[in-house]
Amino acid sequence: MLPLRADTRQYETTLPLSKRDRVRAAALAATPWYYNEWGHVAFPSVVGIGLIAVSIALLDRPTVPELLAVPVVLFLANLNEWHIHRNILHARTWPLETLYWRHTPEHHVIFVRDDMAMRSTREFRLVLIPFYGILAIFVTSLPITAALWFLVSHNVALLWVACTMGYTVAYEWLHLSYHLPESNPIARSAPIRVLRHHHAVHHTPELMQRWNFNVTVPLADWILGTVYDEQSRQPRGRVVPPTSQLPPERLVSRGRPRSR
Ligand SMILES: [Zn+2]
Ligand SMILES: [Zn+2]
Repeated sequence: MLPLRADTRQYETTLPLSKRDRVRAAALAATPWYYNEWGHVAFPSVVGIGLIAVSIALLDRPTVPELLAVPVVLFLANLNEWHIHRNILHARTWPLETLYWRHTPEHHVIFVRDDMAMRSTREFRLVLIPFYGILAIFVTSLPITAALWFLVSHNVALLWVACTMGYTVAYEWLHLSYHLPESNPIARSAPIRVLRHHHAVHHTPELMQRWNFNVTVPLADWILGTVYDEQSRQPRGRVVPPTSQLPPERLVSRGRPRSR
């Protein structure tokens, strides 16, 4: 993948509500006529949980060393979530530029720290990854699945599929729950309140390019020093430079192509 980078400074401030509402209206107006928000929620879960069920059904008496693949894969998935969020969703990267356009100039402009809630179920589309995303993750990770199947063991390959699919479904459900109205019982539950706060800090426009990239459990943020500590208004741990700190010739400022 080729990093193209973008000049994100125009998005690193909370825009007036009228302007954010215009971005919101434009994003919703681009919704295809066939879009069904409940189908969008259900499809990744049905595919993901279905593949988990098949993988578990095919397991053949896994050994303890094979079962250790579960925490290892979940840990790697957490690091990968941090990497994709920071370096693809917050920086234009060919050929996945559409993920940047959907995230930084759209998701982050519409939803800000003190205005995180979706206003209707039609806005599921502004939070969830595209419905086919979970299939794309399954297909693009097939070379790893095959390598594990042929070079390590069938059980480890099956656990890899189960963990990557489970992680993706968890990501979708958690991110959606952070953008529910605060009065929603799911949003009010203690674990969601804690995780939602971590993500809400990331939705502060001035902080989004540097801090709190984990959307599920902030483990990679903690290891890589990108947890923003609100008490001291300081980062915890070592400082990772923002993605926009690149030579000027690598910076581009360009309007979003209205291709969707
Ligand atoms: Zn969000
Ligand atoms: Zn983000």
